[in-house]
Amino acid sequence: MLYTDTGLTGYGYTGTHAHLPTDRLITGAIEHTYGPLLAGEEADNVLCLWRKLNRFPPAQWVGRAGILKMALAAVDIALWDLKAKAAHLPLWRLLGGARQSIPAYNTDCGWLSISTPELAGGCRKLVEEDGWSGLKIKIGHPDPECDFERLQAVRRAVGPGVRLMVDANGALDLPSAMRYGRRLAEYDVTWFEEPMWYDDCQGHADLARAIPTPVALGEQLYSIDAFRQFIGAGAVHYVQPDAVRLGGVSEWWQVADLALSCRLPVAPHAGDMVQVHWHLALAHPACTVLEYIPWLGECFEEPATVRDGQALPPEEPGAGTTLRADVWERFGVDRGVSAELPRA
Ligand code: MG
Repeated sequence: MLYTDTGLTGYGYTGTHAHLPTDRLITGAIEHTYGPLLAGEEADNVLCLWRKLNRFPPAQWVGRAGILKMALAAVDIALWDLKAKAAHLPLWRLLGGARQSIPAYNTDCGWLSISTPELAGGCRKLVEEDGWSGLKIKIGHPDPECDFERLQAVRRAVGPGVRLMVDANGALDLPSAMRYGRRLAEYDVTWFEEPMWYDDCQGHADLARAIPTPVALGEQLYSIDAFRQFIGAGAVHYVQPDAVRLGGVSEWWQVADLALSCRLPVAPHAGDMVQVHWHLALAHPACTVLEYIPWLGECFEEPATVRDGQALPPEEPGAGTTLRADVWERFGVDRGVSAELPRA
């Protein structure tokens, strides 16, 4: 949280899928590295502050990826939240967005732990009863035939008109990814997500040239430079930047502009941190679809809203990151680090 002398509070967040020891490294980075750099600064100058925090010697020396970059993301998101609140606008409007909705796809239906009958039934329900038109399922079973049986069951359950994506979360080697990739077209898969280890630019470029299904990745990339390498190598077709891994909204927007200039669609990786991506997807012209996992929605004052498979525009001023007052106690979390800025 960032406090200002106007009384406005900016909320940022980042995501670790971990527990307190790792989280404390991030809050410590905010307290000891970024907090002192923010004190006395003008909160409205977000891009200048982002550049200062991103390029300051401690960060450029030890933090171009990982903990410091995720801490920077939280700070930058809080600054954008402040800026939008000061303008009395939801962030997507502050950024120039005018869409009234964007298609969303549901990832919460397709975990590896779900049995095949449950998977197929759950996906059918999401389509037939809840109006979803895009779904993503995980692959990476020890026996690849199990993955294809599951994929076939889902395609049969939802019919031909539904966008279906698969995600390997970086688990495959190149020969395995090629074997998978050559068969995905049978099930009209829209994209093959993170087939191999996240940083393997050459491998993904080789794969992208060898299979008919487009490759999606980016949720584990920490910088615009990394995206430029993957895009330049032809290693990615659907670009999936994540504001909580990049340096916040500021760098996310740069990556989306890069994708736009290369005529590549952006599908923000939202995971269970959908809030700020909700605004970004509605605002940036390269975005074609928004990922949706609702796990943390109840933590926020205005949770991301999806109806009939469409993400609807937030109305409250800010980045959608304001936490409900009862969250701290409910989850046993202290209020962490705060930095006071002079005004927003
Ligand atoms: Mg993924």
